[in-house]
Amino acid sequence: MIDILHTNNGYSSPIPHIVIIGGGITGLSAAFYLEREAQARGLAIRYTLIEREKRWGGKLLTDTVDDFVIEGGPDSFITQKPWGVQLARDLGLGDQLIPISERRGKVYVFSRGRLQPMPDGMMLIVPTRMMPFALSPLISPVGKLRMALDLVLPARRDSSDETVADFIRRRLGREALDKLAEPLLSGIHNSETERQSIMATFPRLREVEARHGSLIRGMVAQRAASLRRQATSARPSTPLANSPFVTLKNGVAGLTNALVQSLTGRLINGRGVATLAHDPTASRPYRIHLDDGERLDADIVMLTAPAYTAAELVESFLPRLATGLRQIRYVSTGTVSLAYRRADVGTLMDGYGVVIPRAEGRRINAITISSSKFAHRAPDDSVLLRVFVGGSRNPDVMDLEDTALLALVQAELRTVLGLQATPLFSRIYRWPRANPQYDVGHLEHMNALERLCPPGLLLSGSAYRGVGIPDCAHQGQQAAMDALAYVDTLPAGQYATSNAVEAS
Ligand SMILES: Cc1cc2nc3c(=O)[nH]c(=O)nc-3n(C[C@H](O)[C@H](O)[C@H](O)COP(=O)(O)OP(=O)(O)OC[C@H]3O[C@@H](n4cnc5c(N)ncnc54)[C@H](O)[C@@H]3O)c2cc1C
Repeated sequence: MIDILHTNNGYSSPIPHIVIIGGGITGLSAAFYLEREAQARGLAIRYTLIEREKRWGGKLLTDTVDDFVIEGGPDSFITQKPWGVQLARDLGLGDQLIPISERRGKVYVFSRGRLQPMPDGMMLIVPTRMMPFALSPLISPVGKLRMALDLVLPARRDSSDETVADFIRRRLGREALDKLAEPLLSGIHNSETERQSIMATFPRLREVEARHGSLIRGMVAQRAASLRRQATSARPSTPLANSPFVTLKNGVAGLTNALVQSLTGRLINGRGVATLAHDPTASRPYRIHLDDGERLDADIVMLTAPAYTAAELVESFLPRLATGLRQIRYVSTGTVSLAYRRADVGTLMDGYGVVIPRAEGRRINAITISSSKFAHRAPDDSVLLRVFVGGSRNPDVMDLEDTALLALVQAELRTVLGLQATPLFSRIYRWPRANPQYDVGHLEHMNALERLCPPGLLLSGSAYRGVGIPDCAHQGQQAAMDALAYVDTLPAGQYATSNAVEAS
């Protein structure tokens, strides 16, 4: 590996070496933006990206079975946070982005043993069109009146944290919490509303409250502004531009595959980091040993592996940081995809998903009709479903063997969807300790953890400042910028400038 940069004037100097631990979307994005930005600034850097598994991508996993595109982890990402779409475009995948199917845009709530459509005009969990909401049987008349109190209740304008449950009860009442917020807001994060931090997971709702004094007034104003923008925009609005979620035609793993293809630094997969040591007096302060004993010395280390792994790695030199990292809880989840012949399924409800409130006591958490949600997921004569299991609601389900898990999922599909058919095939994806929990106070906890990091040690990834693909891509990009800013602070002349990222 080249470690010294020979400059045109004959001087040689060491090139800063950045080690990125973890080859999920965060680590891969970090490497991508590091390389891109270093090139743009004419900075010579060397980086090594280390992924313990043979497969790159972490939670992004797409399988193709005949003409079915099956997502094991995430199936899409939100467009309101721009960094996922931006990453796809930066990778030249803009033409691969596909929107959510407009025709079948409804989500259902399984409430009191029946499927109830979410009323039209709901923005997340807030009604913005009064008539469909008033006519919907989903929320009781008393529950609706309580939600309407949001229009007059005093707003909280400070930035202190509270649980999602406290926030929703305060603004919209108990029934909105149980039937809307719990399955939707907590479902996205696989969290428990009574512990989940509103400021770390849905800060926008608190911003809307602070700005408009009411969630309903704020969301109505946002909807009206968005309709005005569309009406006055010179550019014709496209399904992609209007879609709240997008995915890639061949699956979300297209992102991580393209990232791996684009990188020219040293990529190590199938070998993990076993130990990390820190000696601030050494010329390169971080020493990394891989499972097989290979040693790497680095100026900067980005920790993008799960927080509990990061804790093990920093334990020997930062025990307080290790303790704080271990306090970030994780839950285990799974997805089960089932493919059916359309003719066997009969009529399914006209929507792309079902959320199930915890209070229903079901053994599955939610269902996506993948073949209705996005195009290109299944052949026309077939239906592809995806069922979410485990998490904090039903942790014991993750202990079931495959056959028992599949039997349970099929029994639940009979109850929730009335689906009797036998699947053509199924796929089970297990994600042990995969979903970090942003408990109330998470952001303050993160600030404290970051203060404990010595120069050159960066925490980045789903455990920290956002779990979704856009958040992770953004954190990777931010870590890359922080790494380069740190390179700039190293003693003048220690590191040279050139036009290249050093190949290894
Ligand atoms: C079932 C499921 C569904 C989801 N659905 C969505 C969705 O629809 N939309 C969305 O936006 N987000 C979704 N998410 C969240 C999102 O997928 C993740 O938060 C995100 O992919 C995490 O990326 P990451 O790079 O931070 O972590 P990871 O993907 O966990 O990557 C970390 C990597 O570090 C590696 N590693 C661990 N230890 C070591 C070591 N010692 N040395 C080297 N490498 C190591 C791991 O093997 C792993 O590849 C979902 C998550 C799950 C589990």
